[in-house]
Amino acid sequence: MRLCPDLRGVAPVFHRFTWIAFVWGVVAAAPKPVNAEPLLAGVAKVDITNVDAGPVNDPLYAKALVLKSGDTTAVLVTVDAVAIGEIGPIKSDYLPKVREGLKADLGIPPGSVLVNASHCHGIVCSDVAERTIAAVKAAHAKLVPVKVGASAGHEDRIMENRRLKLKSGKVADVRHAYALPPDEEVAEVGPVDPQIGILRLDRADAPGGTLAVLYNFACHPIQGVPSGGNTADLIGFASKVIEENLGPDSLALFFQGCGGDINPALYKDVENPRSGEPLGNLLGLSTLRDARKIECRADNRLVVRSEMLTLPRRDQTERIAALEAEQRRLLASLQGTSLNFKTFVPLYVKYGVSGDFPSYSSHRYLHEQKLGREDLAKLDADNRRNMKAYLQNIQTMEELTRVQTNLALLRKHQASLIASGKRTVDVELTGLRVGEWTLTTFPGELTVQIGLNIKKQFPQSRTFVAGYTNGYIYYAPTAEQLQNPGSAQEDCDTILAPEWQAIYEPKAVEILRGL
Ligand SMILES: [Zn+2]
Repeated sequence: MRLCPDLRGVAPVFHRFTWIAFVWGVVAAAPKPVNAEPLLAGVAKVDITNVDAGPVNDPLYAKALVLKSGDTTAVLVTVDAVAIGEIGPIKSDYLPKVREGLKADLGIPPGSVLVNASHCHGIVCSDVAERTIAAVKAAHAKLVPVKVGASAGHEDRIMENRRLKLKSGKVADVRHAYALPPDEEVAEVGPVDPQIGILRLDRADAPGGTLAVLYNFACHPIQGVPSGGNTADLIGFASKVIEENLGPDSLALFFQGCGGDINPALYKDVENPRSGEPLGNLLGLSTLRDARKIECRADNRLVVRSEMLTLPRRDQTERIAALEAEQRRLLASLQGTSLNFKTFVPLYVKYGVSGDFPSYSSHRYLHEQKLGREDLAKLDADNRRNMKAYLQNIQTMEELTRVQTNLALLRKHQASLIASGKRTVDVELTGLRVGEWTLTTFPGELTVQIGLNIKKQFPQSRTFVAGYTNGYIYYAPTAEQLQNPGSAQEDCDTILAPEWQAIYEPKAVEILRGL
C-alpha cells in the first residue's frame, strides 16, 4: 500500500490490531431464573422538531425506552435525525452530553446508553441533548413490570439496493446527486434485507397492553414528502401506524439497520410526487402483523455491553489518482458536434417517432429512390451520426458528475486522515439482550450485506444489527464494495480500509454470542 507523503511517518498497524475492550465498562447481568425479579420498562417521547427551520410536515421525536433488571439498566434512545454527531444538526458533543446527564441524574453508566439515528434527513432543534435527557428521565420515572417477546417480520416492497453492477465491471449508485448510468449498461442489482427485527414489551400488570414495540429494518428514510416540509420520513409514518393501532400508551421505537446501500423503492421517480408515507405505512403494517403474533412472557434477561474497536483507515491517495485520471480521460473524450440542445431535441423526437422516414413523408423517399437519388437518406445518416455523438457527450457529462462528486468525497476523507495523524479509527460497538432478542450496534452506515452476513450466524432470527448508533463514521461498505473501480458514493464517502470487514464481522458475532 502506497502512503501519501504526509503519512509516511505513521506506520501502518493493520497486522497488529487488537481489541480495546470495555472502555465504557461492561454492565452485564448473567441470565437469571425466570420470574426471580420482573423486567421493568418505561417509555417516553419528546418532540425535537426544529420549528424555526421552515414548514413542518410531521414531528420529529426522541423516544426513550428504559429497561431494568436487578442491577442492570439499559437505555435505548431513537432520534429522527440523520446521524449521532459528525454530520447534520446533531453535533458531536450530543452523545457525551446525554451520557453525562444520565450518569449525573440517574446514575446510569455511559456504556448502557444506546442512541440510534433513524437517518431521516429531518432538522432537529438545537437543544436536542437536553430534550433527550428529559425523555429518558420521564421513561425512567414510570418503570413497570413487563413481559417480553421477539419475532422477525418481513417487508420487501418498500426498498431496493442502490448499487448497480455494470456490464463494464464498475458499480454505479442510485442518487439524486447525479444521473443514473444508461439502462443498457446495468447488469445486476445488489441484495436487500426484508427482515424486520421486532421486540415487543407488554405490561405485566393489569390492565396490561403493549408498552413498546422496538423494530429494526434496513432502509434509508429519504423519500421525503410532497410538500418538502420537515419530516421523520417513512420511519415517522411507520411508527405512527404502529402506535395508533396499539393504543395511545404504546410507543414504537425504530432502530435503523444496515441500510448503507438501501434506498426507498422508486427513489428516482419523476412522474409522481415522492412521499415516504405509503412506504412507511407498509412498513408499519408489516411490523404490526408480526408484532401481534408474538406471545410475550416473563423473561428478565437483560444484558448491555459497550466496547471500543480499532479499525483501519484507508489512505485514499491511489483512488484519488485513479479517479483524477478518469476525470481527465472523460473530459478529453468530449467531441464537438454540429448540434446544440435546441436542434438535438426535436431531431431526437422525430427520429424516434418515424425510424424509416424521419425527414419527410414516405412518398418523398420513394420518389427519390425512383430517380436514383439519396438526398434524404444522406441527411438522415448525418443527423443520426450527430445525434449519437451529442448523446455520447451527454452520457460523458453525466459520468463526470458522478466522478467529481465522489472525487470530492475521497479528497475530504483524505484531508481528514492526514489531519488525524493516524491510520486507525476507534469505534464503539454495543451488544444488547432483552429476553431472547439480541442486537449489536455500529456507529456507521453498514451496507446490507454486512448485516446479512452477521445474522446468518444466528438462524433462529432473534438477532439483529443496527448501524447509525452511538456516533457516526460515514459508510461502512464490504471489502468487495471498497474495491469498486467505478466509484459509488458508499465506497468514497468512507474512511475505512477494506480490511475493516474481516475485523468487524467476527467481533460483532462474538459480542452477540457473549450476551
Ligand atoms: Zn446514508
